[in-house]
Amino acid sequence: CGIVGYVGSRPALNIVIDGLRRLEYRGYDSAGVAIIDSGVIQTEKKAGKLANLEKALAERAADGIGTGTTGIGHTRWATHGGPTDRNAHPHLSADGRIAVIHNGIIENFARLRAELEAAGIEFQSDTDTECAAHLIAAEMRALRESGAQDGPALLAEGMRRVANRLEGAFTLLATDVNVPNAVVAARRNSPLVVGRGNGENFLASDVSAFIEHTREAVELGQDQIVLITPEGIEITGFDGSPAVGKEYHVDWDMSA
Ligand code: GLU
Repeated sequence: CGIVGYVGSRPALNIVIDGLRRLEYRGYDSAGVAIIDSGVIQTEKKAGKLANLEKALAERAADGIGTGTTGIGHTRWATHGGPTDRNAHPHLSADGRIAVIHNGIIENFARLRAELEAAGIEFQSDTDTECAAHLIAAEMRALRESGAQDGPALLAEGMRRVANRLEGAFTLLATDVNVPNAVVAARRNSPLVVGRGNGENFLASDVSAFIEHTREAVELGQDQIVLITPEGIEITGFDGSPAVGKEYHVDWDMSA
C-alpha cells in the first residue's frame, strides 16, 4: 500500500527502496520496482517483504537493475489477484513501453480487460491494475498516429485520457521507456503527495518516503494528474485544465 516515484540525476533504485521502507508501516504483501535506463525498463518484483525484493535485486547479473535516474516503486496490498510474484507491481504494457504501479481498486477493470483482450492483448497478471498499462500505451499510440510527438506531455495526456476511463479509487504512476526523466501520476480518492527537490522531484503516498531528501511538499487535489521531471512539477485536472497544488514545508521531526 505504498507508492514512490523519482526523477533526478541520482540513481533511482536506492531512493525508491528507501522510500518504500519508510512506507512499510502501511502494510503490504509484495513489492516491486521499475527503473528506466538507456532506453530500457527494468523491473523486479516479489511477493513478501522488501527483503525478498532486495535479495532478488542482489542476485541479478553484475550490472543489476542499472543506475537509471528515473524509477517507481510499489508495495502491494492485493485486492484483485493473489499475492504472487506475477501479480506484484509494476505491470507492463504489451509493447513493453509503459510500466505502471497502482494503489487502490479499478472498479470497471473487468469491462476494460475484456475490451483489451478482444483487441488481442494477452494479460500477464490477474490484477485490475494491468489494464491501465495497456490503455496508456494504446492512448499514446493513437496520439502519435495522429501526429503527436513523444515526450513528457504525451505521457501525461495518455494518463489523463485513461484516468477518465477508470472508475474507483486509485493512485496510479506510469513511466514510458522512451520518455526518460518523467513520471506521471493520477489521483482519485487515494493518497499522493509531491516532493519538490533541487533538480529532482518525488512522488509518494506520504511525505515520510522523501523527507530525507526534501521537506518541500506539494499537496494535490482529487482527480488530478501530476507530471514530474527533474526540472519541474506540472499539475492538471482530469479535464485537462491547469491546476495549482498547495505548497507546504514539512517541519516534523523525522528522527523516529
Ligand atoms: N488493486 C491492485 C492490486 O490488487 C492494487 C492494490 C494496492 O492498493 O496495493 O494489485
